[in-house]
Amino acid sequence: MKRLIFLGPPGAGKGTQAQLLAASLNIPHISTGDILRAAIANSTPLGAKAQSYMDRGELVPDELILDLIQERLSQPDTQRGWILDGFPRNVSQASFLTDLLAQLNQTCDYAIDLEVPDEVLIERLLLRGRKDDNRETISRRLEVYREETAPVIGFYKDRSALKSINGNRHLDEVAQSLQDLLQTPSLT
Ligand code: ADP
Repeated sequence: MKRLIFLGPPGAGKGTQAQLLAASLNIPHISTGDILRAAIANSTPLGAKAQSYMDRGELVPDELILDLIQERLSQPDTQRGWILDGFPRNVSQASFLTDLLAQLNQTCDYAIDLEVPDEVLIERLLLRGRKDDNRETISRRLEVYREETAPVIGFYKDRSALKSINGNRHLDEVAQSLQDLLQTPSLT
């Protein structure tokens, strides 16, 4: 049973690695970005509220995200464990999650920070070419990351739950490091 949080800037490879690892552990991969993009694609009220923030590279307001996470982490499939990708994205979301997990009688095993230099991130995002992967939005997303999301790393460091991984390597090498991390005896 594993409960993991993936941290790291846009383009660090969180989504790719979270998806691979979730499949190998047979636990749900919960990406708030994917949930919001699905809401937009399905023209739901949530999608309508979230879209302009996402297009500008801003965080969607907490009130749109917190209920969504609470509801998702209360689904039966999360009893096997989970990987959170894209949440928490600021310190207030992180403390909300701590309280929510306490209510659910759960604790997170690790917050995993994928480290990648800015110039590599920009290159990767421009190649990916999602709607919000244009120069202007990318630069705003990196700014928002530094201001709001990077402090979440300190939040988990203070709680001794942080593990940092070099994300500036081939996808397979990063995946292997994650597998190795989860096989360390301290976790079993
Ligand atoms: P990336 O990490 O590459 O920026 P994501 O799919 O994680 O991609 O997020 C895309 C966008 O979705 C973000 O720029 C933000 O607008 C919104 N978003 C995703 N998760 C959250 C969250 N937890 N809180 C606020 N906004 C979020």
